[in-house]
Amino acid sequence: MTKTIIKGGRVLTMTDGAKEKRADILIENGRIADIAPDITADAEVIDATDDIVIPGFVDTHRHVWQTQLRTVATDWSLFDYFVEMRLSYSTFYTAEDAYLGNYVGALEALDAGITTLVDHCHILNTPEHAEEAARGLQDSGMRAIFCYGTFPNEPRVPMEVPDDPGWRHKTARELRAHRLSDSRGLVRFGFAPSEAEAMPFEELAAEIKLARELDAGAISLHAAMGSYAFDAHIVENLKKEGLLGPDLLFVHGSAFTDLELDLIRETGAGISATPETELQMGMGFPVAHRAHAHGVRTGLGIDIVSNYSGDMFLPMRLALQSTRALHNAEFEARKRAPAVIEPKAESVLRMATIGGAEAINMQKEIGTLEKGKSADIAIISTDAIHMTPSFDPVGALVMNARPSDISTVLVNGKVVKRDGKLTGVDWPALRSRFAASANRIMEGFRTVDITATAEATRPIMPHLE
Ligand SMILES: [Zn+2]
Repeated sequence: MTKTIIKGGRVLTMTDGAKEKRADILIENGRIADIAPDITADAEVIDATDDIVIPGFVDTHRHVWQTQLRTVATDWSLFDYFVEMRLSYSTFYTAEDAYLGNYVGALEALDAGITTLVDHCHILNTPEHAEEAARGLQDSGMRAIFCYGTFPNEPRVPMEVPDDPGWRHKTARELRAHRLSDSRGLVRFGFAPSEAEAMPFEELAAEIKLARELDAGAISLHAAMGSYAFDAHIVENLKKEGLLGPDLLFVHGSAFTDLELDLIRETGAGISATPETELQMGMGFPVAHRAHAHGVRTGLGIDIVSNYSGDMFLPMRLALQSTRALHNAEFEARKRAPAVIEPKAESVLRMATIGGAEAINMQKEIGTLEKGKSADIAIISTDAIHMTPSFDPVGALVMNARPSDISTVLVNGKVVKRDGKLTGVDWPALRSRFAASANRIMEGFRTVDITATAEATRPIMPHLE
């Protein structure tokens, strides 16, 4: 049967803010065929009585490969992250580890109601890593843009690294031509230049041009990372060279000037704010609401799953409450008290759905529940103690919900989580394979002289104190 009806839910289509309406959703061949009360059809029925139904979340920035290093980054600065994650842990990743990180990480996201993921994948130690990391996303059933990362990782254990210094670009072409050849497929090709602000500008320009030649779905760039990038002005430089465009996705962006935000808006590029990373790592204040106020296409991202949870609930709340704190502090500074709290919770629910879709130019396909769009849907139960009662569905989603409340998830009309359980996943068996991978990487990491690696790395971050 190719028809499904989601019956009786409290539907937030996200087309007119986050207004609730009682409706059924008819799904045919992966698409939303109708949204109306009391639809009858010969179809599989998913009972959503009392549940909240929303478009699946869009996570616009995650390094999915780090999933099996959960909890190692709890107290890290960006410097620690660079030294330990990017220059140490990563160097022990085999292609199998990259597969497992991406496969399990995508399952974690689906479990939390995320149906689209932008994977900024900078674990490509060998060409096989690229194949395997992309395959991990494909096997999960997730909709994703696999952003092929060109960061020059140097493995510390023997691996089959090609002698040709140009292998990273060659492998990108091969991946695009074969595994990710479908520009409209569930997992699409994207690009992640090495490190936008740290690499020579000519190299960045060449990588952006290569990404465009390969018709990358998104070009993911870490940029304007607060105190780590006071004077980078990457957007102004890209503007001068005529390289700005709607395919660019700027990640973090706390240090963007108003002029840069205006330039981003004018060219239709997107921003992914990752509030938890920015707040923890001294990367400036999350830009989400400031970018949105400038009219920029703004989404939220989770970023570092080796540190925090892989769901959209916390980034929504952190973006919201930190911005409210800033707003309230303006009153406090004048010895006044705010009579009205800004911004409203609806703003972050928007960023986590249609805002994210806009940031990656997929708003015509996903991000809202509308006739003709892909049936990427999350159904959230309100049965749990912490969800009872749920008078206001926005308050329930932004302030109270947890991944365990996500009962059912569909991607492209296919049920990937049903009644609280991922479909087709034998977690106990997968878990032992995943844990073995994690333990082996950890064993390798323990042989690294971190003090020496840190000393060698310090000069590239001149503002460190
Ligand atoms: Zn990142």
